[in-house]
Amino acid sequence: MRHIAVVGSGPAGYYTAEAAQKKFGDDVRIDIIDRLPVPYGLIRFGVAPDHQSIKGVSKRYEAVNLSENVRFVGNVTVGRDVSIEELQSLYDAVVLATGAPADRKMGIAGEDLPGVVGSAAFVGWYNGHPDFADLNPDIEGPGAVIVGNGNVALDVARILSKTRDEFHGADIVDHALDKLDHSGIRRITFLGRRGPHQIAMTPKELGELGHLTRATPIVDAADLPPVGDDALLEPGMRKSVAHLREFAANADTPKDIAVEFDFFAMPVALEGDGRVERMIVERTRLDADLRSVPTGERYVIPCRLVVACIGYQTPPIDGVPYEHGRGRFANDEGRILPGLYCVGWARRGPSGTIGTNRPDGFAIVDLIAEDITDSSSKFGRPALDALLEGRGVDIVTFRDWQNIDKAEIARARDGAPREKFVAVDDMIAAKKAAG
Ligand code: NAP
Repeated sequence: MRHIAVVGSGPAGYYTAEAAQKKFGDDVRIDIIDRLPVPYGLIRFGVAPDHQSIKGVSKRYEAVNLSENVRFVGNVTVGRDVSIEELQSLYDAVVLATGAPADRKMGIAGEDLPGVVGSAAFVGWYNGHPDFADLNPDIEGPGAVIVGNGNVALDVARILSKTRDEFHGADIVDHALDKLDHSGIRRITFLGRRGPHQIAMTPKELGELGHLTRATPIVDAADLPPVGDDALLEPGMRKSVAHLREFAANADTPKDIAVEFDFFAMPVALEGDGRVERMIVERTRLDADLRSVPTGERYVIPCRLVVACIGYQTPPIDGVPYEHGRGRFANDEGRILPGLYCVGWARRGPSGTIGTNRPDGFAIVDLIAEDITDSSSKFGRPALDALLEGRGVDIVTFRDWQNIDKAEIARARDGAPREKFVAVDDMIAAKKAAG
């Protein structure tokens, strides 16, 4: 028998568990540990609430969880309730699948002013993450700046632009929907430090921006490279740039909210009296390696909300080697130390789609199989349970989660799949209410 602990119940964690089941069959016990009482990490808290079809992948993770040799152990914080060293003493392999839930910093003056938030916080707010449920962002408007030209920037702009009707079928939490009803934002600026050919926005997601009831995407045709240059792009990028060209052609029929693409523009500083009121921006150009270079030309964008969507990082864990520059655990193809591994965004940084984590999970299990050939002398599950019980930790099982899930579905507003509990205490209360 092999004992594997997976820390983190998002996509990377579940694909690792699935791979371990396939590889070791009945000869493995896998505990998926999460600090929250609810599973699925990025699927629940990162994927946009109006992208329900993407969230459907959690059905696959549920199937993994309903098998005998996999167990969800929620409401357990590694580093507080149990240490990495303790897990290593109990399991043959400990796999960190902790994702990259912390914001990267822009590193500019004024970044800490009220009104400036990172995308982890903002996305966590509208997705009901307990850490960010109280964010209460200022959306009085009229100006908002979204820094970055990736898919998260698109999610944030779309959520800020949609009408209540357009959230039909979405699991955006009530506190966000109610607040967005009274939004005064009328101008959203995407700040991209490079150009249209360097965006990290995928075509389907970018195309959605052209079909919003009250927002118009605006692209300055002068920013676009000659059409012929699009042929040099890979097919996905070519489609994305085609959307930018459509936006440039249609920008003369603005709706209530203008969503402007400001290319070749980097944030320099944020200023305001007690809160953000404006961003100082510098024009850039591309060098021969397609990096952005400041030109010295500066201008001001008035704004009351700035959302930095510039990527994420993995929070370090005491005693685990960490690569600070890249914001992830120091690892060699997923190996950190003997018996300690990482997978998904915690291994490679925040890139790729949800599906990218599947081969990642299978690859890490291949390494574990290479490294752990002997039958285990570790105690695994029962020893973890005894240790946590001794410390008074109230663990949440998958059955408990199913009860929380039912309670969330039961309290959904009309047309929504669920109304999430946004406080850990309420999640635990729902588990207890179900007995
Ligand atoms: P991302 O794709 O890496 O995009 C980050 C953006 O921020 C880039 O445009 C980058 O520009 C810019 N940036 C980075 N540092 C900056 C700085 N200091 N100043 C100004 N701009 C800066 O990251 P993401 O949008 O957070 O997405 C993370 C991953 O999740 C991606 O793989 C994404 O595709 C995926 N995702 C997918 C979906 C979906 O499929 N529906 C939704 C959300 C997220 P440079 O290119 O110049 O570095």
